[in-house]
Amino acid sequence: MSKVSEDLNEWRRTCYSTDVTPDLESKEITVFGRVMTRREQGGITFLILQDMKGIVQVTIHRDKSPKEVVEDIKNLELHSVIGIKGSVKSMPKAPHGAEINPSKIKILSQPKTKLPFDPHGRIEQSIDKRLDLRVIDLLRPRSQAIFKIRNVVLEVMRQFFHDEDFLEINTPKIISSATEGGAALFPLLYYDKEAFLAQSPQLYKEQLSSIFEKVFEIAPIFRAEPFRTLRHLSEAISVDVEQAYVTYVDVMELLERMIQHIVISLNEKCKDELSILNVKLDPPQLPLKQVTYDEVLKALEKTDVKIEWGDDLSTASLKEISKQFPQYYFIIDWPTTSKAFYIKPKTANQELCESFDLMCGPIELVSGGTRISNREDLAKRIAEKGLEPKNFDYHLKIFDYGMPPHAGFGLGLDRLIMMLTNIENIREVVLFPRDPQRLTP
Ligand code: ATP
Ligand code: MG
Repeated sequence: MSKVSEDLNEWRRTCYSTDVTPDLESKEITVFGRVMTRREQGGITFLILQDMKGIVQVTIHRDKSPKEVVEDIKNLELHSVIGIKGSVKSMPKAPHGAEINPSKIKILSQPKTKLPFDPHGRIEQSIDKRLDLRVIDLLRPRSQAIFKIRNVVLEVMRQFFHDEDFLEINTPKIISSATEGGAALFPLLYYDKEAFLAQSPQLYKEQLSSIFEKVFEIAPIFRAEPFRTLRHLSEAISVDVEQAYVTYVDVMELLERMIQHIVISLNEKCKDELSILNVKLDPPQLPLKQVTYDEVLKALEKTDVKIEWGDDLSTASLKEISKQFPQYYFIIDWPTTSKAFYIKPKTANQELCESFDLMCGPIELVSGGTRISNREDLAKRIAEKGLEPKNFDYHLKIFDYGMPPHAGFGLGLDRLIMMLTNIENIREVVLFPRDPQRLTP
């Protein structure tokens, strides 16, 4: 064991690994990071240090480097967390064309046990094993690439909404009653009462759109999904949008522009990350293809999968029809019975409603629609759906004070990231996923 000192004292970083280039030749610098590899060659030790930006080579010569440094690295364990003070030297073979010749090493933390898997190893570990030790898994370039892409998606999405004059809102996640029905809710004890974790901000965002007109929220939704699938989590992040004085046609147009903007931005800002993941992203051509629910059922007639008119589309049916459509497509004009109570039936044909799902292959990314803005119609739909009208008093009464026509959608952020990174399991794109069998870490 080498000597460890957790105190930083006067030690502060002067540059990142990726700043160590021939431009800094002979400059004295301080870097911090984790020792990822160690190689000995004829009296020379090469360390590769990884920090938040990338990697840098540190080279120690048994004969030329300060005695103290040579001594310090003798028993230096892999994955130790260290600081290095030293000078930069051009070295064409090293990452970024330069290395550090250290004058001082500070060992801040030495691992007490060996890692259960090598984050840079060639052998792909099972996702469960990696999630059990997620933070170590995040040393893997692939995992890092996913979360850097996720970060950029959030950044450009927020910017997109702000540029369109949307106001970012935060609505409560502890609620007194179900938004869309009693199923799939997590109950909890709220002082001496029963409460629930919110399955969606639907009613709050609708109410707020009557004042702010254009609102969005990026926040968790909680759903006690009974099944374990590759696209469902118990806690997911939803991007919720609601806008007054528009219909579903307008918010579909907003949504497709946003998706296109995200793809274009990722190609600009995340070249390295996309290449690590081996992903090529083509910006979708607008407008995106639209098919009606009835057309989907017609297309299914030629297959073995059968759907009764009025039912939701099953996983098997979506797999079938995705073979016939481009990557992104809208399914529009669903039967009123298949959608939530707040979706507006079409005036000319009440059996159909002003609704859409945005699909990416067989996976649903977004659901949206025009909302009912008439109090009596809304109360009627609540009763028709078998929900308890009393539970919605606080919501319905807002409609008594005047409610503009409005429309909106909810987009599953985690599902969008799956699609953009071409990853099959939603757990890969969430830092600490929650599902029926996973509540830790
Ligand atoms: P699905 O039919 O795929 O279960 P849904 O129709 O129940 O989804 P919505 O209530 O329409 O979901 O929610 C809007 C969006 O939120 C969905 O299109 C999806 O992208 C995302 N979403 C919903 N539930 C989950 C979940 N359990 N895990 C991850 N994302 C989800
Ligand atoms: Mg849906």
